[in-house]
Amino acid sequence: MINVFLDFWSGLLSEATNPQKRVFIGYLASALFIAFLWLFFIEKLKIKDATSLIFSKKIWFSKSSKADFKLLLLNRIILSAGAAAVVTQVTISTFLYECLSSQDFVQPLLFYSTPASVVAALFTICFFLFDDFSRFFVHRLMHKVPLLWSFHQVHHSAETMTPFTIFRTHPVEGVIFLLRTSVVQGVVISLFIYLFGNKVDLITVFGASVGVVLFHSLGSNLRHSHIKIRYPKFVERILISPGQHQIHHSVEQQHYDKNFGVALAIWDLMFGSLAFSEKKEHKFGLNTKFGKKQNLLHLYFYPFKSASQTFKLISIFRGRF
Ligand SMILES: [Zn+2]
Ligand SMILES: [Zn+2]
Repeated sequence: MINVFLDFWSGLLSEATNPQKRVFIGYLASALFIAFLWLFFIEKLKIKDATSLIFSKKIWFSKSSKADFKLLLLNRIILSAGAAAVVTQVTISTFLYECLSSQDFVQPLLFYSTPASVVAALFTICFFLFDDFSRFFVHRLMHKVPLLWSFHQVHHSAETMTPFTIFRTHPVEGVIFLLRTSVVQGVVISLFIYLFGNKVDLITVFGASVGVVLFHSLGSNLRHSHIKIRYPKFVERILISPGQHQIHHSVEQQHYDKNFGVALAIWDLMFGSLAFSEKKEHKFGLNTKFGKKQNLLHLYFYPFKSASQTFKLISIFRGRF
């Protein structure tokens, strides 16, 4: 048991010092700085009031927030055991590379003469766009497919939000997103190596891609918070603001199934699910029986029960038609 706790804290510490991770200490510090700037200059709060709002005990020590931390702890243990079972990016890229090599329509190394700097820029842009689109698309499916919603509702049952609410997910959702990462990396890497050869490289800053560093430095951690940072409407058509993700978590019916995007808002704009941020306060959470409880057993096991009910519905549907 002691080992499990030691692993947990060392895992968390390695995430806090890794610029590839959202809870990297530098990103948390930049989010704190942005929150202060926003509350001081835009909301015109005094420093003392801004401080007590940011570190509000009502938020950080709420039942919901405590459940976030418990899920973070348990998911880490469960997912580290299951991670080995997930198809890795290397397996997928090797498989796809073999598939590409066995076809005759597109020749290998077709664009080999492209300068390395152009390849690196193209790769970075394509990777960012495909990664962001796939996050949007899988998230959209999580809401639209009842079976997947059974698990995603755990994230939406948060009634208060802190940057650690990002970890409030059911392990089934965790595995689905791990698979998504493997597929995206595998597809882009194998395609680029096939067409451009071994010049492929991410333009990196501190070992992370430019897109990741920019996105997280600009306060991605405030998406899960009570600090309602809003962008002008023309920017919210391109980039998702923290206020727009908070709309995604609102209990109000007109906000259901809005703003699935992570970094870019263009996907929501294209699929008709974009909603602009609003100045007024929103209640977060779910107006359902599931959303009423914050205990761990409920958050872990109820989704399986509701998933099995969706299977029953499917079989009734099949039986009738
Ligand atoms: Zn969602
Ligand atoms: Zn969220």
